[in-house]
Amino acid sequence: MKGKVAAMTGVKEVEIREYDVPTTEKGCVTMEVIKSNICGSDIHMWEGKHIFKNHVLGHEMVGSVSELGEGVETDYAGEQIKIGDRIVPVYYLTCQKCEACLNGHFNVCTRGSDYQGQYAEKYPHFTGGFATHYIIHPNQYFYKVPEGVSDNVAAGANCGIAQIVYAMDNSGLEINDTIVIQGAGGLGLFASAISKTMGANVIIIDSIDSRLEEAKKFGANHLINMKEFNTIEKRKEEISRVTNGKGADFVLDVAGVPAAFDEAVRLAKIGGTVIEIGNVSVDESQNVSIVPGLITRKCLTVKGILRYQPWYLYKTLQFLERYNDQFPFDSLTDRTYSLSESQLAMQKAASKEVTRAIIEPNKAE
Ligand SMILES: [Zn+2]
Ligand SMILES: [Zn+2]
Repeated sequence: MKGKVAAMTGVKEVEIREYDVPTTEKGCVTMEVIKSNICGSDIHMWEGKHIFKNHVLGHEMVGSVSELGEGVETDYAGEQIKIGDRIVPVYYLTCQKCEACLNGHFNVCTRGSDYQGQYAEKYPHFTGGFATHYIIHPNQYFYKVPEGVSDNVAAGANCGIAQIVYAMDNSGLEINDTIVIQGAGGLGLFASAISKTMGANVIIIDSIDSRLEEAKKFGANHLINMKEFNTIEKRKEEISRVTNGKGADFVLDVAGVPAAFDEAVRLAKIGGTVIEIGNVSVDESQNVSIVPGLITRKCLTVKGILRYQPWYLYKTLQFLERYNDQFPFDSLTDRTYSLSESQLAMQKAASKEVTRAIIEPNKAE
């Protein structure tokens, strides 16, 4: 049987390649990809800014089981798995042998990226989501998707959403706390919904009216438009006003610009916590000046969160099913493309003409 992958052949160049789908090896699972999201890191890769180059694109996907390798009978929650079941893999590996894994930090396994989006030519070829098939590695967690979670929603569960669920669950956020979310993109909207279900008072900052409007549907109590509140001081005053002078217990950066971190440190109240998720680049050009004394004087806690512990994907799928009627999770995809349109989809996503693009690799052309 033949299958196809969308491989990067150069910066901003994607080509469709065809390979034999290998027989599923011991401990592996082969799935037919149903849908695959375009994530911000796919765009970085396509633009040549990411450490991965010339690889199979895509890591946020949902698929249906087409073949089970020897020994695989259940998912990682112990649920029986059969051909045709919808599943979502955690996008990184957990080797269980490195220093990070030995200390229980599976989310930062040093071999975590060893399998993700390899060179298309390299066996087993199907290591990215922009492909007709995907082969789950024996060291890769995967979970069955609950019936109430749609393909579109499940496709994004294994990256940003799970990361936000993990971050919020480990943040220390308590009932009635105020959280300020910097950025009302996909991650910000999910952070708003999750914080709301935890009993928090949610304030969200963005500069785009339509994104702020959407934030209301995801539980935000207060919106701060950066066009109106155009300085940090004004935003801080507004946070103080809507919290009756209490301020922000938590500030979550999902804006992904270095300046947001500086602002987060300024916005957090005494004893507050800053959670950093949005800034992922370690490029020197991503430097920003902050006033360290603010961290000392306000006794701030700063938490960086990369990926998530793998079982948080399971918790995320449960969360999405439980709150499916309360929040419009399905509204977050606005355009679907076929596999052969991968290059076009990347262009549209990179230029932000399409906010949330999804690839449907097995869709008839
Ligand atoms: Zn992603
Ligand atoms: Zn490891």
